[in-house]
Amino acid sequence: MENDGKEDYLIPNYQRAPVKFVRGQGSILVDSDDNKYLDCLSGIAVCGLGHAHPELAQALSDQATNLWHTSNLYRIELQERLASSLSEITKQKRVFFCNSGAEANEAAIKLAKKYGHDQGIKAPIIVTMNGSFHGRTMATLSATGNPKVHSGFSPLLQGFKHIDYDSAEEAARAIQARDVVAILVEPIQGEGGIVVPDKGYLSKLRKLCNETDTLLMLDEVQTGVGRTGEWFAFQEEGIEPDVLTIAKGLGNGIPIGACLAKGVAGNVLTPGTHGSTFGGNPLVARVALKVLEIIEREGLLERARHLGGWIRCQFKEKLESLAGVIEIRGRGLMIGIELDRPCAEIVEVALKKKLLVNVARGNVVRLLPPLILKDEEATMLVEKLSVIIKEFLTSKR
Ligand code: PLP
Repeated sequence: MENDGKEDYLIPNYQRAPVKFVRGQGSILVDSDDNKYLDCLSGIAVCGLGHAHPELAQALSDQATNLWHTSNLYRIELQERLASSLSEITKQKRVFFCNSGAEANEAAIKLAKKYGHDQGIKAPIIVTMNGSFHGRTMATLSATGNPKVHSGFSPLLQGFKHIDYDSAEEAARAIQARDVVAILVEPIQGEGGIVVPDKGYLSKLRKLCNETDTLLMLDEVQTGVGRTGEWFAFQEEGIEPDVLTIAKGLGNGIPIGACLAKGVAGNVLTPGTHGSTFGGNPLVARVALKVLEIIEREGLLERARHLGGWIRCQFKEKLESLAGVIEIRGRGLMIGIELDRPCAEIVEVALKKKLLVNVARGNVVRLLPPLILKDEEATMLVEKLSVIIKEFLTSKR
C-alpha cells in the first residue's frame, strides 16, 4: 500500500498496520488491493456476527429512514425494549446506556462511589486487579491494573486499590477495610493476556461481597454477548453480579455500551447524577436488539462454546508439545496461546498471510473470531497459525 501522507492528519496515538479495509462479508475483510483476510479478531471482540450482516444492515437502514436520535430528555421505546431484553438475559434490573466500554465502566465507578457516599463513606475505595484493563478515560485507566496504561497520566484518580487477580484470599483481605465499596473485575482478563481464573473464583468473590455489603461489579466488555459461549461469562459460575458493564459485541460495530445494576445498586444513580447525550438512541438500540435476536435464534452461544473448544483442542494437538509454547487457554471464542517470549511480529507475519490476529501482554497470541466463523474458516485459522507459530519459534530459538 502506498504512503499517501494522509495518516499524518491523525493524532498518532495508534500503531496501525499498513492495510486499509474497504469492505467485509462474514468473517472476511477485503483490503484496498482486493486481498481477502480471515478476520480472527472481530474488530477486538466487536463484530461477533461478522461484517455486513444483512439483517443488521436492514435493521440499521430501516431505523435510519425513521428516527436516529432524540436525546434522553424523552422516553425511547427501542431503548426500553433493549433494557428489558438485557434484563431478562442477565437478571439485572436496570440499565444505563452509553457509547463504549470505558463509559460503561465510568458509570459503574460513579455508581460505586455514590453507593459509598450514600452510606456516609467520604473516600470510597474500589478494589481492582493487577493485569486488568477497564478503558482509557481518567477513571478507567486509574482502575486499570497496568503501569504502562498509567504512564504519563499522573496524578491518577484516587480511590482504587489494586490486588492480584485470581486470589480470593487477597480480595478477602482488601475488602475488610471499611471504605471498600466495590470490587471491579473481569471474569477473564482479555487485554491482560486471556487470563482465565480458577473455577470458583467469581463465586468466592460473590460470597465475600455478600458478607460485607460490597458491590460485585463485573466488566464483561470483552467477555460479554456470547464471546465465551454464554451470554455472559458470569453465567458459567451461576452467580449474579450487582453491577455489570458491557459494550463491544452488543452493537456489532455500532457504538454502544451499558452499565446494568440490580438490587440497591439499581437505585443509586438518580436524576441529575449521570447521563449521556447519545446513550441508547433509537439507531443503536435497534441494531443491538437485532444482535441479541440473531445470537439467540442462530444458537450462537452453543456454537461459540463448541467451536472454541474444537479450536483450542486443535492448537493443543499441534502446538502444546513445542518448546516455547507455555499454554493454550480460553473459553468459547476467546482464545490465547501463550509463548515464552515476546511475539508481536507474529501479527505482522499473519497479516502477510492474510490472517488477522493480535498479541496481548506481549507474548500471548489472542484470537477473538466472529461467533459466525465457519468450520472451514476455523480449520484455515488452525492450519495457518500453527505453521506461523512453529516457524516463529524455530527462527527465534
Ligand atoms: N473493559 C474491557 C475488559 C475491555 O477489554 C475494554 C477494551 O478493550 C474496555 C473496558 C474499554 O472499552 P472501550 O475501548 O470501548 O472504551
